[in-house]
Amino acid sequence: MKTEVSRALFSRAVRSIPGGVNSPVRAFQAVGGEPLFIARAEGPFVWDADGNRYVDYVNSWGANIVGHAHPKIVEAVREAAGRGLGFGAPTELECQFAETLREAMPSLESVRAVNSGGEAAMSAVRLARGFTGRDLVVKFEGCYHGSVDSLLVDAGSGALTFGHPSSAGVPAKAAGDTLVLPYNNPQAAADAFFAKGDAVAAVIVEPAAGNMNLVVPDPEFLKVLREECDRCGAALIFDEVMTGFRVHRGGAQALFGVTPDLTCLGKVIGGGLGVAAFGGRRDMMEKLAPLGGVYQAGTLSGNPVALSAGLAALEIVLADGFFPALARAARELADGLEKAGESARAAFSARSIGGMFGMYFRGAPPGNFAEVGECDLSAFRAFFRGMLERGVYFAPSAYEAGFVSAAHGGDEIAKTARAAAEVLAEIA
Ligand code: PLP
Repeated sequence: MKTEVSRALFSRAVRSIPGGVNSPVRAFQAVGGEPLFIARAEGPFVWDADGNRYVDYVNSWGANIVGHAHPKIVEAVREAAGRGLGFGAPTELECQFAETLREAMPSLESVRAVNSGGEAAMSAVRLARGFTGRDLVVKFEGCYHGSVDSLLVDAGSGALTFGHPSSAGVPAKAAGDTLVLPYNNPQAAADAFFAKGDAVAAVIVEPAAGNMNLVVPDPEFLKVLREECDRCGAALIFDEVMTGFRVHRGGAQALFGVTPDLTCLGKVIGGGLGVAAFGGRRDMMEKLAPLGGVYQAGTLSGNPVALSAGLAALEIVLADGFFPALARAARELADGLEKAGESARAAFSARSIGGMFGMYFRGAPPGNFAEVGECDLSAFRAFFRGMLERGVYFAPSAYEAGFVSAAHGGDEIAKTARAAAEVLAEIA
C-alpha cells in the first residue's frame, strides 16, 4: 500500500495545523502511524491521496448515511449555491427543515437549527438551566456531547462523584456543576436523584452511546431517567447527534419508546454539511431569544446550502424501506465480523443497532464505560492496521462506533468479513 503522498501531506499539515488535523481523532494517534489524506469519495468508498481505495465505515463520522457524494445531495447543494450562499435572514427552507424534523420526531414541538452537535448540546443545556433556574447537569461516563466546557467531564471511577475536567482549560467551576454517573445503571441514577434531584436542571444522555464504541442501553435505564426527571422537574435531554435518523426513522427515542424533553441532532440531518439542531417541548423552546431570556444565536445557523443538503438526505432517509434495509446491512456486517471472530485467538464480539455497529476485543459487547475499558486495545490496533492494508477503513479508535451507509452492498460487506477473518486469525 503506497502512502507517500499522504505522508508528505501530513508533514506539511503539522507545520500549519495543530497535530496536522482539525479534529483530534483523525490523527491516528490511537492506532499508530500517520493519517491518510482523503482525496475523494463516492458511494461506500473513499480514495486516499495515493489513489488507494477503501470501503469506508467512518462515513464522515456517521453523517453520510446515504453514501458519499450522493447525486441527489450534490445536485441540491449546486442548486442552492446558485441562489446565493446565505443571507442571514429567514428562508422557506428553514420552515421545510423544521417541519421535516417534527414530522419524523414528534417530540420536537419546536426546533432550532445550529451548526454543530456540540453547539446543539451546549444550547440545550443552557436552555434547560434557564428554564428550571437550576445549575446541576447529570451526564454519563463515556458519553460525549461535543467540545463543550461543562460536558467535557469524566468521573473516572464510575462512582457517584462530581466531575473533574477531562481537558485542560476547562475551569473546575464549569465542571463542578456536572455530575457524572455510570451508563446503564438505573440504581445509580435513582440514588443520585434521591440525593440531589431538586438541584438538577438536566440529564443529558446518548440514548444509545456511540462515543465509547457502541453501547446499547438496557431498557430500564432510559425509563428510570425519564421517571426521575419527571419526579424532580429536571429536563431529560437525549443527545441524538449520532443516533438521530441513524438507529431508527424516529431516532433512539422511537426505538426505545422513551420521550425526552429536548433532543440534540446533528450529523445525518446535514447530509454531510455543517447542520445540527436542538428542539423539544414548546414551553421550553419558547424561553429562547427572541421570545424568552435564554440567549442563543449563530451567524450561519440554518444556512440554505447546508439545509438543502440535509433536506435532500432526509428525503431519502425517511422514505419507506430505507431503515429496514440499512439495519439489515449493519446486522449482516456485525454477524459477518462476529463469525470471522470465531477463528480468532483474541476475544472478539460485534453488534449493530440500526445503521450503527460496534466491534469489541472482548468476549461480549460491553454495557458501560468500565466494560469498554476491558477491551484489548493492542489487538484493536493490529486489527485496524490489517484491515486498512486490505482496503477497509474503520474509525482509527477503539472508542468509536462504526457506520454503514445505504451504499454499502453485499459485496462490500462480504469483502469486509473476509478481510476480518484473515486479520483476526493473525492476531494473537
Ligand atoms: N454529541 C454526540 C453524541 C456526538 O457523537 C458528537 C460528535 O461526534 C457531538 C455531540 C458533537 O458534534 P459535533 O462534532 O458536530 O460538534
